[in-house]
Amino acid sequence: MEQERGPKKIREEVLTCPVCGKPTLRIEEYLYEVPHVGKVILSSGKCSSCGYKFSDVRLFEAKKPGKIIYRVEEPEDLNALVVRSASASILIPELGLRMVPGPASEGFITTVEGVLDRFLEALHAACADPSADKKACKEMEEKIKAAKEGRMKFTLVIVDPEGVSEVASPKAQRAPVTRKELEELGYVVAPGFGEEEQKN
Ligand SMILES: [Zn+2]
Repeated sequence: MEQERGPKKIREEVLTCPVCGKPTLRIEEYLYEVPHVGKVILSSGKCSSCGYKFSDVRLFEAKKPGKIIYRVEEPEDLNALVVRSASASILIPELGLRMVPGPASEGFITTVEGVLDRFLEALHAACADPSADKKACKEMEEKIKAAKEGRMKFTLVIVDPEGVSEVASPKAQRAPVTRKELEELGYVVAPGFGEEEQKN
């Protein structure tokens, strides 16, 4: 019985690699039960010719596309699990931070604190550039650390046009996302998107 709750392989395929075009991209997908989240699909792919790889995670049952808004007010709020699919964006408006999908975008499961660690890593990478503004880098680092240590309240917003991301907390709220918000984040929005909401 124990085995049933472990990851279950649901797909294994070898496909054409989008980077080098050779038929050597091995894809694997697992169904996994995450406490307080439910069923998620973990997928990964690796090309044995060029080394291209990706990983992603998404909810098994998609929810309504839109925004998830999660307010961090207490240090415990930093422990909530976050499922971010590779096609979702993460914003922290109070800190001016945003993580938007790109060619190297990865899906992941981590805590809110883990999300802040990812922003710190990205900041360190950007600030390693000799032309970076060292003072601005230091200030941003201090702000992210204050957020990480529970010394600052902030809002974590996930924008997910597919509805397959999650913040595992009863405090997390879902809201619709507008065409303008999606376009600002670089999404290509289908014609007719959002018209249904406007009619109501
Ligand atoms: Zn390849």
